Amino acid sequence: MSNIFNLCELYSITLLKKRFLFTFGSRLFLDMKKVLILGSTGSIGMNTLNVIRNFPQHFEVSVLTVNTRIDLLEPQINEFKPTLVVVKEKKLAEQLKQKIGEKCNVLSGIEGLIFAAANCDYDIFVGAMVGFAGLAPTIEAIKRGKRIALANKETLVVGGELVTKLCKKHNAEIIPVDSEHSAIFQCLVGENANAINKLILTASGGPFLNLDKEKLNNVTVEEALNHPNWKMGNKITIDSASLMNKGLEVIEAHWLFGLPKEKIEIVVHPQSIIHSMVEFIDGSIKAQLGLPDMRLPIQYALTYPERIQNNLTRTDIAATKNLTFFKPDFNKFECLKLAYTALEAGGTSPCILNAANEVAVDKFLQGRIKFSHIPVMINKALDKIVNHFTPDLETIFECDRITRNYVSGLN
Ligand code: NAD
Ligand code: MG
Repeated sequence: MSNIFNLCELYSITLLKKRFLFTFGSRLFLDMKKVLILGSTGSIGMNTLNVIRNFPQHFEVSVLTVNTRIDLLEPQINEFKPTLVVVKEKKLAEQLKQKIGEKCNVLSGIEGLIFAAANCDYDIFVGAMVGFAGLAPTIEAIKRGKRIALANKETLVVGGELVTKLCKKHNAEIIPVDSEHSAIFQCLVGENANAINKLILTASGGPFLNLDKEKLNNVTVEEALNHPNWKMGNKITIDSASLMNKGLEVIEAHWLFGLPKEKIEIVVHPQSIIHSMVEFIDGSIKAQLGLPDMRLPIQYALTYPERIQNNLTRTDIAATKNLTFFKPDFNKFECLKLAYTALEAGGTSPCILNAANEVAVDKFLQGRIKFSHIPVMINKALDKIVNHFTPDLETIFECDRITRNYVSGLN
């Protein structure tokens, strides 16, 4: 099967018909799909299990992985009966083994995550882990030509060029879970890549949309974690407050849809009802709408190209009033500017941007730096660390390591 990067092929009606008839004809889709969830105790992971719970006739869980939360993993094991779980922290993996006995196999460490992705029996790999650490296991799944339902945008931000090449080589397909990219993906079904004029990513604007720039200096962790529309993990919530999330999404869109940064626009839309849009060369704009609920893009990534009936709350269009749109303030949200700069620079620049951001966000969450210091640290890292073009995996890992060391040492 073609992957998402072969846009011309992917969106040509002929091929879609072919895919429908020969690859995902509805009879075939009714076959059970085995799912591996990388990061099952997080916001996306639990929403994925929510979807799976509602469709036991379509999906079964084969592998679950977590960082530390064995308290949340244990009930997941009892309910979904995976054959293997991986707990990143070794001591906690031992504790879990004692508790669950023979119920399922338990592995630990990054080796365990890679082993699961590279060897276990599954059809769909859900990348629901947060941060750079998702890259290596995702690459293993790509090498096996699996369907990747990708939420972990950092994988494409840091390794977009390499990941794209590997997808082509191994015939793996990435179906986006990120709501904006899912919206664009849905708008592009049946369209020709040459007909796209630009992508319009919507941004809620986060909790500080209407705050003066100077006041960003004194916002608290609690205020930054108070997202107006979405309930998500801490890291992405802070990224949404700084608008770095939208910056990472521009880079993610660049790799997913193969368009230059000039053709990827951001529009602030505080109601988060329109999840993104595509403008075509004839001036027509398609949008995908829905309530802010990640279960919908997750379900679509699992069932594509099919749609299946669910019981999610419907959008009451008549009651949907005052949808507003305006340009983002690049001056106030410096992270957004930095992300465009890193995308333009190419090579390992987005990897530097991402690693610096992960460390700075962590420092902010721990109360060690001010919110307004996040872009300052990223800027320093982009200035300091050498950019390498067309990086291989080793270079990406080295760049991530060097950047983390550097930013960890900054005050
Ligand atoms: P989260 O913090 O709620 O969950 C992260 C999951 O990854 C947890 O299960 C955790 O155990 C696991 N994990 C974290 N670090 C790990 C490590 N080093 N090794 C192994 N496992 C680790 O995060 P989230 O909000 O679910 O986001 C996950 C990804 O999806 C992120 O990349 C985010 O940008 C993306 N995303 C999330 C949302 C959302 O609504 N939450 C929307 C769009 C995209
Ligand atoms: Mg998003």
